[in-house]
Amino acid sequence: MSSPTSGGHGRHQADPALPYQETSEQHYTTAAFATFTVETADLHLLILRGPCPRCGAEIEIPVIDTMLSGSRAALPFGAAPVPAESRTEPVLCTSAADHPGRPEGAVGCGAYWMAAIPLVDPD
Ligand SMILES: [Zn+2]
Repeated sequence: MSSPTSGGHGRHQADPALPYQETSEQHYTTAAFATFTVETADLHLLILRGPCPRCGAEIEIPVIDTMLSGSRAALPFGAAPVPAESRTEPVLCTSAADHPGRPEGAVGCGAYWMAAIPLVDPD
């Protein structure tokens, strides 16, 4: 499969030769926080977009917003208030590159981390 040329941005390149490894490191979270953007694709759908901190592939992570507000409504009485400005979601690399050693049915390079997702109030 030939990948489309993307205009030659000076970003670091994806590294498809990187072996698949399920791993998470603190700096993944830090790096992703600095580079990822959050787009509102729909009323209840957010798209996290940015380079994987491990393999560098440009990836998109859809996040359904209904479960965010749903979990807020499901808080039991007396539960400690959760800061509403942002929350974190586990994010898994979804690189389309064929990383060596990847198990059947798995995606990405195996890297995962926690992404901070800003919560937008409906009004
Ligand atoms: Zn990756």
